[in-house]
Amino acid sequence: MEILLAEHSGFCFGVKRAIKIAMEASDNKQPIYTLGPLIHSPQMVNELAEHGIRLAEKPEDLHNSTVIVRSHGITLSDREMLIKNGNTLIDATCPFVSKAQDFVKKLCSEDYPVIIMGDKTHPEVIAMLSYCSTETLVVNNPDELPERSWKKLGVLSQTTKNMSMLQELVGRLVPNVEEMRLFNTICTATTLRQDATIALAKKCDLMIIIGGRNSSNTKMLATLCAGITGILHVETADEIYAEQISSHHRIGLTAGASTPDYLIVDVYNKINELTGNRTSVKSVKDIPVNKEESC
Ligand code: SF4
Repeated sequence: MEILLAEHSGFCFGVKRAIKIAMEASDNKQPIYTLGPLIHSPQMVNELAEHGIRLAEKPEDLHNSTVIVRSHGITLSDREMLIKNGNTLIDATCPFVSKAQDFVKKLCSEDYPVIIMGDKTHPEVIAMLSYCSTETLVVNNPDELPERSWKKLGVLSQTTKNMSMLQELVGRLVPNVEEMRLFNTICTATTLRQDATIALAKKCDLMIIIGGRNSSNTKMLATLCAGITGILHVETADEIYAEQISSHHRIGLTAGASTPDYLIVDVYNKINELTGNRTSVKSVKDIPVNKEESC
């Protein structure tokens, strides 16, 4: 059996940056807080807690504290309440997310109704919506578009959505809109991870997707792989059993942008252990990577 890792797996620029900012702010003497998880990896959130970086669920629970704004950003009203309650904010919003928020503000200031392709329950989308007072609509995919027309319309996407889906959405809107302004807000890290994952999935009979079940970009990797080959979505190596993998010849691994390297290493070693292979690695750099570019 061969095991290959998709290129560009694991932590993206925005997640690495958020963790670095949080770690630098933590001195282990005073607890600091994030409003909602800093990143969508329960294992990483537990690790951050060991460094005194705690999770708060509601802005009203935080007074006179240091609060890290997570990579997905926060809503305007949460930001205002945190400041009113005397908290010091340290902004770890990913620059790609901040840029998407700026585009929403711009469209709103120019009176454009806005369509966001994304998950309406995701914090990033909820935060984007909070900056817009014109008419807004969130659709998860092009099939959710209503049958109607617009005189003018702004279109953008959650940063972790899929490029082909955005192209299809725009294509379907074109006949029904007189003037459309599109901002491509899908981030580069997302596109690189999705393309590399698709390329690997095409040559594997099983893809194991490693990452939080609450992680939008990890779920998108699983959805893309499911259209190509067999999949297994796990958060940790403990969820893998011999009967799930023993009949497969080539297993591909991929990991969402918020998945720490050690979880990828654990999964690789667990597969080898379950299949009687004595190979084990200490670093993600030692796992064979699929370098194929095309997808
Ligand atoms: S997936 Fe993209 S937008 Fe999200 S944190 Fe990473 S780099 Fe930023």
